[in-house]
Amino acid sequence: MAKEILECSFCGRKKPETNLLIAGLDAHICDRCIEQAHGIVLEESKDITSSDLSAELKLKKPRKIKDFLDEYIIGQEHTKRVMSVAVYNHYKRLLQPPTDDDIEIQKSNIIMVGQTGTGKTLIAKTIAKMLNVPLAIVDATVLTEAGYVGEDVESILTRLLQAADYNLDKAQKGIVFIDEIDKIARKSDNPSITRDVSGEGVQQALLKLLEGTVVNVPPKGGRKHPDQKFIEVNTENILFIAGGAFDGIDRHITKRLNMQAVGYSASRAEEIVDKDNLLQYIIPKDLKDYGLIPEIIGRLPVLTYMNPLDTNTLRAILTEPKNAIIKQYKKLFAMDEIDFTITEGALDFIVNKAIEYKLGARGLRSLCEEILTDAMFEMPSGNNKKLNVTKTYAEGKISKTTLKKLKAVS
Ligand code: ADP
Repeated sequence: MAKEILECSFCGRKKPETNLLIAGLDAHICDRCIEQAHGIVLEESKDITSSDLSAELKLKKPRKIKDFLDEYIIGQEHTKRVMSVAVYNHYKRLLQPPTDDDIEIQKSNIIMVGQTGTGKTLIAKTIAKMLNVPLAIVDATVLTEAGYVGEDVESILTRLLQAADYNLDKAQKGIVFIDEIDKIARKSDNPSITRDVSGEGVQQALLKLLEGTVVNVPPKGGRKHPDQKFIEVNTENILFIAGGAFDGIDRHITKRLNMQAVGYSASRAEEIVDKDNLLQYIIPKDLKDYGLIPEIIGRLPVLTYMNPLDTNTLRAILTEPKNAIIKQYKKLFAMDEIDFTITEGALDFIVNKAIEYKLGARGLRSLCEEILTDAMFEMPSGNNKKLNVTKTYAEGKISKTTLKKLKAVS
């Protein structure tokens, strides 16, 4: 009997016409059909992710958003509430069906003012994680006006495209976190005197992105490839979150508060001002006095502030967030079947050192690294499967390191 020639059950190609024919229970499939089917699967899953976005967003009410933020961010109650509402409104705007009343919901871009290391980036990251949208983190200090050495503002969108794996639809609903926005403040109060490259020009360029516009974006970034094709990115539905330390802005706040006290009734003057946390009184005018142009401030309508981190907050940051530093070390040790514990005394010691050396929250990690590196080096290849870090143990390790080193890594 002649040997039966196998064929693909999908396209009918005979085995010799294919590169590969895979057998199933009662059928066969060739390499070409596999490729095609794979393409269909990818397309389908793309559709699912974009509709997923709307479905998920519909469910998250501000309280839910705040609950999620609470799992990762200690304190900063005010900002978490403000952000939850801003993010909710932003995505509500995206999901609104077209209406014929002339009410257009404007974008709720956000600006966060607070010392470095107080959790601004963490909040932006956590929101992006919750919404499952791409996030680009950019540093305003590297941005320059077109034509100068540095990165054009369009590079922000290149980053966002990369974060979205070049899925334009996803990128256009993503989040951009612009860090150190204070560094592009106008250096002088008189705009006509200075024309600083890194200041007003960049603010002007940024303005267009914040407003919502279609930008030709070089997908690979940079200006070195004039031939590369551009991708048109519409920034209309991108949520921009700006952050900055605004060092010295308290002077503007104090000045304004004092002036108000003079100009208004006695009751105003008697209001107690918390001098240790002046940022809580911040208003858009202070940003203007600091050197942001009014148009930029207008495009970042949600203004919020971060509280400085006190001892209790730092202590909680070590152990409480969902991915707290101590939990991470516990997991790392557990992978080598090492039972890692740390005493309250050691934790307090770490917090006190972070405060003493003014290392902030980032310093917590560098202190832990210093304390645990020897153990993480030795223990995986040893027989001792128990590590209990006490205050004395921690002190011993820290005394061997230098403050300079701790500052460098934090
Ligand atoms: P910023 O952007 O304000 O400079 P980050 O968000 O980068 O600060 O914070 C640095 C690190 O400090 C974060 O990765 C996080 O581990 C920790 N951190 C800071 N503030 C908080 C907070 N409020 N809750 C939890 N962790 C925090």
